Amino acid sequence: MWIDTHAHLYDFSDNDIQNLCNRVDSASVGAIVSTATDLKTSKNVITHCVKYPGLYGAVGISPFDCEVIPSGWDAILEQNLHEHNIIGLGEIGLDTTNPRYPSFEKQLPVFEQQLYIAKRLDKPVIIHSRGFEKSTAEICRKNGCQKAVFHCFTGDFDAASVILDYGYYISFSGILTFNKAAIRQLLPKLPLDRLMLETDTPYLAPVPFRGKTNTPLYMQYIGNEAALLIRKSPDELQAQLKVNFNTVFNVCIK
Ligand SMILES: [Zn+2]
Repeated sequence: MWIDTHAHLYDFSDNDIQNLCNRVDSASVGAIVSTATDLKTSKNVITHCVKYPGLYGAVGISPFDCEVIPSGWDAILEQNLHEHNIIGLGEIGLDTTNPRYPSFEKQLPVFEQQLYIAKRLDKPVIIHSRGFEKSTAEICRKNGCQKAVFHCFTGDFDAASVILDYGYYISFSGILTFNKAAIRQLLPKLPLDRLMLETDTPYLAPVPFRGKTNTPLYMQYIGNEAALLIRKSPDELQAQLKVNFNTVFNVCIK
């Protein structure tokens, strides 16, 4: 079974999630991490995780949503981390690639405050970082972050090396299946015991669904492509990914 370590399901209705859960077995998906971006979506993630087995959740404030947050947000977030099957903070991070996002000066304190919570509660973090991966890894380390997954990684070998040096993990999305993606050359150079895979639903659907709405049910297209690129069988890769996931998120998926 594959594990989708990053999917945005918070806008799914109960019906949508039920349909998804009914079909995960036949799509070889054993677990999904439903990832939030702010307090409102964190609430949805928590509700879904209580109702649906096989669903894990990450709660947090993303760099795009750090502009308008209520005072006391950090205490609420900390409470959220104690809810059923909530396994970490995410997605959180830094992104300077889009001028429409809040400024770096706004993003940084919210990010660092969440790293502080993660450190204090000993929780892993799921990191969003675009064009800024190396510095983000350095900020994680500076803030005493022990366990981090750099999600939807599109950085270069240099950035990957820094992330790995600090003991963190790298997760690849369906971009792996895109013909010209540089990460196709990068993946085989990385140690397997630091790897994760994800759909990043609803974005970035893998080939042959590129351009369509993504779903965790497409996880196998990403997994099989990754297995091909590293010349392992899908079974071997799944076994390693399961160990990685259980190690980082302190769970016991069989
Ligand atoms: Zn995401």
